[in-house]
Amino acid sequence: MEAQRGPTVLVTGGAGFVGSHTVVELLNNGYEVVVVDNLVNVYKGDGTLPVSLKRVEEITHKKVLFYNVDLLNPVLLEEVFRMHKIDCVMHFAALKAVGESVQIPLTYYKNNVTGSIILLEVMKKCNVKKLVYSSSATVYGTPQSLPLTEEHPTGQGCTNPYGKSKYFVEEMIKDLVFSDESWSAISLRYFNPVGAHESGRIGEAPSGIPNNLMPYIAQVAVGTREKLKIFGNDYDTPDGTGVRDYIHIYDLAVGHIDALKKLLEPSFSRWKVYNLGTGTGYSVLDVIKAFEEASGKKIAYEIAPRRPGDIASSYADAQLAKKELNWVARKTLLDMCRDMWRWQSNNPDGYATGPKV
Ligand code: UDP
Repeated sequence: MEAQRGPTVLVTGGAGFVGSHTVVELLNNGYEVVVVDNLVNVYKGDGTLPVSLKRVEEITHKKVLFYNVDLLNPVLLEEVFRMHKIDCVMHFAALKAVGESVQIPLTYYKNNVTGSIILLEVMKKCNVKKLVYSSSATVYGTPQSLPLTEEHPTGQGCTNPYGKSKYFVEEMIKDLVFSDESWSAISLRYFNPVGAHESGRIGEAPSGIPNNLMPYIAQVAVGTREKLKIFGNDYDTPDGTGVRDYIHIYDLAVGHIDALKKLLEPSFSRWKVYNLGTGTGYSVLDVIKAFEEASGKKIAYEIAPRRPGDIASSYADAQLAKKELNWVARKTLLDMCRDMWRWQSNNPDGYATGPKV
């Protein structure tokens, strides 16, 4: 007799950093998964599956159903929905480089906003009306108070097209859900996801110079980059460097499973937003120190001017997710650095030159 199958989740952007780690946890928790990704920011490898998803199969010992489809193509997207009985969508697919979004705003709005509209239209047509949305703490703009609760105003002071696109899509989903009670959605506002799967087989593989702190530090540790530039040491923070709420990618992925369980409860009502963070802020110098301890490598750095648009501090109030989803982040900063280092040292060039699967 065939084992009973769990609900089927269509994951957009499932070959990327957050998507691939979430697919692992979905498969490990008995969900059926269909991945849709246009591979724009993903190492394709030479097979039918991108390397990240091959490794997801290796980790989970399960097959991954994958379609190379762009959300801007409604015809192909609908075909995928028609081929499977989808219960719910997790929507990760988006461009995410803050600096680049300032250079090419229309590309960002087209991919992130228009892509989301097309996805929602196709979902509606195919009568799939449950969604978990990958949002970001960037929707809070400059914090008016800390820690950031879900009630903090959003959209004000979002300084770049990336952040605005996350805010616009949240608003659109909210309007849709309140226009028609057959829809329900959860938006998850991520703080700073870092680290990698503990196997060291999947992780973050930025193309070109990393924009984010932890991938940059990891590349300095492995010798790809000479030294880190610390963007400002004159902020109003304990040591003058920027403070952020770093969250292990595993904890973040588990947060999606807990949100999905909530969304699938018959009593779930329409629209909820949850912060996914640890609730603790660490400075750039704290992260450097922890990474040195985890890797045994000295991280060379210099102090550089502030990065335009950066804020001094950002960290979450994560109580709501604890109370309503029974979710808490469990991994420490040292865990994040250890797992990041395992991934980076085993795959110095990301997926491009890692050991063959
Ligand atoms: N940062 C830095 N050097 C870098 C990248 C980042 O000093 O090369 C700092 C940045 O100013 C911020 C923190 O590290 O205080 C986290 O930056 P990241 O870009 O990772 O996240 P975000 O600013 O989007 O929260």
